Amino acid sequence: MRDDLCCCGDFSRHHLSGGRRAFMGSVAVGVLTAVALPIGGSQAADPVPKTTLTPDQALRLLKDGNEQFRMDAPSRAAQGRERRVELARGQAPFCVLVGCSDSRVPPELLFGRGLGELFIIRNAGNTIDTAALGSVEYGVGVLGCPLVVVLGHETCGAVAAAIEVVEKNATFPGVIGEMIQPIIPAVLAARSQSGDLLDNAVRTNARRVAARLKTQSAVLQEALRQNRLKVVAARYDFDDGNVDWFEDV
Ligand SMILES: [Zn+2]
Repeated sequence: MRDDLCCCGDFSRHHLSGGRRAFMGSVAVGVLTAVALPIGGSQAADPVPKTTLTPDQALRLLKDGNEQFRMDAPSRAAQGRERRVELARGQAPFCVLVGCSDSRVPPELLFGRGLGELFIIRNAGNTIDTAALGSVEYGVGVLGCPLVVVLGHETCGAVAAAIEVVEKNATFPGVIGEMIQPIIPAVLAARSQSGDLLDNAVRTNARRVAARLKTQSAVLQEALRQNRLKVVAARYDFDDGNVDWFEDV
């Protein structure tokens, strides 16, 4: 990828040059999936208009898609050649999704979505570091997504590991321990709640990450202030395929 181009086709139009290399380093690996690189470079016009969906309409699409997934309804998600070629001109997703890397939680499948619809950040435990935050801000501030979803899930291994750290002072190889550090405050908060500790920690972690996004990103706060963005948390259940929504974060 050329240094002066980004996933939207022209990095220089959208971003401050001072943070360019750091940003490219953070998002270039696997996050930006629908890449369009116009030969013309910096003078190219936006090839695909941003979504016109409202935050509530975007959320409704996810809820409806999840309902179809739960019912084993045939997927109507666009993923054929025609859509792929259309998206070669650029992307206009309607939702930024922060999810867990867990192989059982693939966002497009859970929500019945197709190519070019979800801008996804995944890591074990669905947390937010600088790379993830920059990616979320890119999805909202540049691509115009009206919805951010932080999706936790039943029996998340990363959250379980954070519980082991808190309760048994457990250690893990490499930088795994460092990776799960941001989950520990959710575990501590969940310990004072009644019920299942792991599930409470999963829910608390998703809520905390969503709340952090709402309060610690100037880009998201501006979109929230203009009523063109909603940030919600959610929890996916393996057994029934259902997603619980927490819209009050
Ligand atoms: Zn997980």
